[in-house]
Amino acid sequence: MRLSRYFLPIIKETPSEAQIVSHRLMLRAGMIRQSSSGIYSWLPLGLKALKKVEAIVREEQNAAGAIEMLMPTIQSADLWKESGRYDDYGAEMLRITDRHQRDMLYGPTNEELITDIFRREVRSYKSLPLNMYHIQWKFRDEIRPRFGVMRGREFLMKDAYSFDVSKEEGVKSYNRMFVAYLRTFARMGLKAIPMRADTGPIGGDLSHEFIVLADTGESEVFFDKAFDGFDPMAEKAEFGADLQPIVDHWTSKYAATDEMHDPENCPADLNEGRGIEVGHIFFFGDKYSKALGASVQRSDGENTFVQMGSYGVGVSRLLGAIIEASHDENGIIWPESVAPFKVGLINMRVDDEACSTVCEDIYSQLEAAGVDVLYEDTNERAGGKFAKMDLIGLPWQLVVGPRGLKNGVVELKNRASGDRIEMTVEAAVAKLTA
Ligand code: ATP
Ligand code: MG
Repeated sequence: MRLSRYFLPIIKETPSEAQIVSHRLMLRAGMIRQSSSGIYSWLPLGLKALKKVEAIVREEQNAAGAIEMLMPTIQSADLWKESGRYDDYGAEMLRITDRHQRDMLYGPTNEELITDIFRREVRSYKSLPLNMYHIQWKFRDEIRPRFGVMRGREFLMKDAYSFDVSKEEGVKSYNRMFVAYLRTFARMGLKAIPMRADTGPIGGDLSHEFIVLADTGESEVFFDKAFDGFDPMAEKAEFGADLQPIVDHWTSKYAATDEMHDPENCPADLNEGRGIEVGHIFFFGDKYSKALGASVQRSDGENTFVQMGSYGVGVSRLLGAIIEASHDENGIIWPESVAPFKVGLINMRVDDEACSTVCEDIYSQLEAAGVDVLYEDTNERAGGKFAKMDLIGLPWQLVVGPRGLKNGVVELKNRASGDRIEMTVEAAVAKLTA
């Protein structure tokens, strides 16, 4: 992509409406713009990063055996009346009346809708286990939308739903998702710690939140004083296929509720901290299948209500969490797996023929090799170009200037380490396409 043809509205000043660094940087880097409270437009750079995050979530869901589908954003209120949640959900639910005076709603989650699909189609244990997910926009009329995409009203969520014939099988499905979550967040460079959680209004008896520790996080968490780091891949190796989640040295409570401000609730051997909830998984048995009459025939011929779990990832919130975890005073530092572009190619002097010829050549080689490259081909001065590249945080910057070219070299800068290496064009292209 040529920057001269792109839409990247950079903000130089610190936006006054943003209280936390990820929100400030997403605005400044031209990733998002608020359209109304808690509702955002995703500008091209933001959308590109969002798609990368979404792709990792999708790959890991598929690898764990979940099947992608797509349910609508707008739902009929009837199912929610049947489950009893139409009244329980309260003011967070955006209620809509259509032209025929039918009660509709913008889905805050999809347990009812998926259970309705299941009960109409599935009759036998032979169709199980089944796990289906979608990645779809949700709406929750949050009382205090804030921190940009971290607590939006409209936000992108991956939600999966598992169906099993027995509790034992249901817990296996839960554990499979648990491992998929560890893998998902690790691939984004995040240390997301699974913490035993309250099941809350979704109900049920087994639940974990995945928390990224951050001072700006909204969740208040308590953790084992012995904790000194977490390696999800090592944990995964330990779990094996039919894992039982980690000793639970973790508990978590919401900052939004009052009870946890009581220091009595924090036992002496636990540290108190703050974190961002990026995922939440539940095993809730037959709560919804009973309410909505979703049953299957077992191998012994008896009918049983299907055992269900639900598994959410805050896809849009993850963008904020990744930036909270990875930035410096100059801007974002994208982990390569989710970077909107892998490399920024900086032409220091677009008016210099040698510079432009070399840049065009590098640009077409990188494009041909399928490398995501943002070519800084505007006539802004060099200082502005460097500041902009640091701000948007692409993993690599390839700097082409007249002085280096005289010696046959360009400069490759690593955004995370700040290391700069001079090398030939061929060596630089080889490194970036390796
Ligand atoms: P929270 O306690 O933060 O409100 P929740 O428990 O209500 O979250 P779930 O219903 O479990 O959230 O939704 C699954 C995931 O969706 C959460 O783990 C979180 O990452 C994300 N999420 C929930 N609410 C929002 C929101 N308002 N804005 C952005 N992401 C959200
Ligand atoms: Mg919530």
